[in-house]
Amino acid sequence: MTTNILLVDDHKLFREGVKRILEFEPSFNVVAEGDDGSNAVQLVEEFHPDVVLMDINMPNLNGVQATAELIKHHPEVNVIILSIHDDENYVTHALKTGAQGYLLKEMDSDALIEAIKVVSEGGSYLHPKVTHNLVQEYRRLAEENANRPAEKSIEYRKPLHLLTRRECEVLQLLADGKSNRGVAEALYISEKTVKNHVSNILQKMNVNDRTQAVVLAIRNGWVEVL
Ligand SMILES: [Mg+2]
Repeated sequence: MTTNILLVDDHKLFREGVKRILEFEPSFNVVAEGDDGSNAVQLVEEFHPDVVLMDINMPNLNGVQATAELIKHHPEVNVIILSIHDDENYVTHALKTGAQGYLLKEMDSDALIEAIKVVSEGGSYLHPKVTHNLVQEYRRLAEENANRPAEKSIEYRKPLHLLTRRECEVLQLLADGKSNRGVAEALYISEKTVKNHVSNILQKMNVNDRTQAVVLAIRNGWVEVL
């Protein structure tokens, strides 16, 4: 099976060199060349390449912008960036736009051939230096996330070491702003029983009144504040 390749680079000599390398590979066929990102879409529509080798620095439309355009119109095309830039910004931007590969012009011809094969079969291929930079960046981000203080979240736990389940329910209803009558109605008990519960709660929590009890309960995460 033949892999049809489109070469987009503003330097003719570079294109000729790459073309010569690729011609040694029987399954490769360079179908067209472009010298600017702005005619990449048109060339793809005309020549239907499987793989596009795309430079970044070019007049008019740069390679990353051209890749974005290409992928928008032809998501089936596999783009490999072939650039001098190993800067992580370029790389992440290119990958985000949908490039399947990122190579550096300093690489040798065997790696270029390997990359085209991998990408034409639906894989991804990054130059080792690019991979290294990405891994570094990934670690940096992971560390940054780990060091970020966790979002403040209160875990509400009932103070069962101190209060009975029923007293916990009463305490929660006090925190909800209920009067003795309100508590009584909510729990289907008499107001007198509520008063007993409240006085037990105050005593156990060692506070003087229900307001103090509620404040302390909120501070300790013993009640949910709606
Ligand atoms: Mg260039």
